[in-house]
Parts: sequence; structure tokens; C-alpha cells
Amino acid sequence: STAESIESERLHALSLLAAGVAHEIGNPLNSINIHLQLLDREIGCLENEGAKTELKELVDVSRKEVARLDTIIRQFLKALRPSMPERKPHRLSELVEETLEVMKHELKDRRMLIETDFPAKIPPVAVDETQVKQVFFNVIKNALQAMDDGGILKIETHVSDRFVSVALEDNGPGIDPDQLGAIYEPYYTTKTEGTGLGMMIVQRIMRDHGGEIEINTEFGRGTRLTLRFPREDARLNLLGAPHHNE
Ligand code: ADP
Repeated sequence: STAESIESERLHALSLLAAGVAHEIGNPLNSINIHLQLLDREIGCLENEGAKTELKELVDVSRKEVARLDTIIRQFLKALRPSMPERKPHRLSELVEETLEVMKHELKDRRMLIETDFPAKIPPVAVDETQVKQVFFNVIKNALQAMDDGGILKIETHVSDRFVSVALEDNGPGIDPDQLGAIYEPYYTTKTEGTGLGMMIVQRIMRDHGGEIEINTEFGRGTRLTLRFPREDARLNLLGAPHHNE
């Protein structure tokens, strides 16, 4: 309808504006960061050890906050960017493994054990590699943060008639059932350092892939998140495999 198209045009204009503002914030932020680095170096040359420690701490806090702003802006821009997935056949287990490799540093100092179960028979699915790695990154990070005091993250791949899926099970605190819908909302976060954009991005990418997300959670016990990706070959089978001329 006309109302809908006006609304979507308005949203489009708004998101362009927001992207512009977010982008503009990047430059001064960068400059602040450089000046903080210079300040840090100057402080390093001070004679008074007491003042040195105190000033270093102030600069440290400022730099951390700048890094946080930077993350928020980058995630925000990513969330706005329209995305047509470029789909190629991939083994989801390999994409999970490559994501874990990228997260090596974040995983290193944690008391989190990762158990994977990737049966060889699982077929590849047509997905956008970058986007799906982003999905895995976001959900693994959530599991990691949920198990701050250590725990086990199980990651498995499964196959059914229509889907190949990745299930991630953590034994963190779980999600309040009343909040299950809210976790996909932008800026919903229960973390002091969260951006609240992770699950929104996960949902959007899964939707763009024609996939599904299922969350089973027990408050206080843990969360099992299943990401289902539609099988291209399943669709072909439904349509009937191409016949050979005989
Ligand atoms: P952020 O991680 O920045 O908070 P997300 O959108 O990724 O943003 O997640 C939103 C919220 O969903 C989290 O703050 C947390 O409360 C909840 N959540 C997501 N994954 C899990 C999980 N595995 N265990 C417990 N809570 C979770």
C-alpha cells in the first residue's frame, strides 16, 4: 500500500541519516584515541610514580570507553547495511571451526571447554560465509559471556530432510522466559558492556538465509540455541531431480 511504501521510504531515509552520523563519529573518535595514546606516552615520562599510576589509570578507562564506542558504532553500521547473502556451498562445521580460530584470543584465558560433534555425513549448505561466521561469532561470544565462571559449550551439527543445523548448548544462567522475545531487539542487553545488537544481527542474517532460530533455555541452567539452514538439495529433491535425456 502507499502508506507502507511511505513508511519504508521514511525508514530508509532515517537509516541513511543514522549511518551518516555513525560514520561521522568515527573520525573524532579516532582522533581522541590518538591523543590518548600521546597522553599515555607523556605520562610514561613522569618522575612522580604515584601520579603516574593514577594518570595512567584515567587514560586507560578513557581508552576502554573509546574502544566501546567504536564497537557500538561498527556493530550499528553493520546492522544497518542491507545485505544480500552471496551463497556458496559450505560445511557449517568448517565455518564454526574457522570462527573459533578467529576467537582464539578471547577463548584463551577462559575456563570454558568447547566440545564439538561434527559428523562427517553432514552435507554442505549454500550460505554466505562472512555473514554466517558473524552469526557463529555472536552466539559463541554470548555463550562465552554467559559462562563467565567457566563451563562447557557443546557445538553439534545435525541434518534433517529440510535443514542442516548447528546447535550450541551452554550451561550458563539461561534466559528469563519473559525476555526471550526481547533478546532480538536492538539495544536489549543485560550486560554492562553489551551493545544489544548481536542477536538482532543473528536474526536478520538467519532470516536472509531462509533459516530458523530455536532457543530452549532453562533459567538458571543453560541455553540451547539451534540455527537451522535450509538445504538447497532438499528443495531440488522436492521439485524433482533433473532428468537425463535417454
Ligand atoms: P549483547 O551480547 O551485547 O548483550 P545480544 O543481542 O547478543 O547483545 O544479546 C542480548 C541478550 O540476550 C544478552 O544481553 C543476554 O541477556 C541474552 N543472551 C543471549 N545469549 C545468551 C546465552 N547464551 N545465555 C544467556 N543469555 C543470553
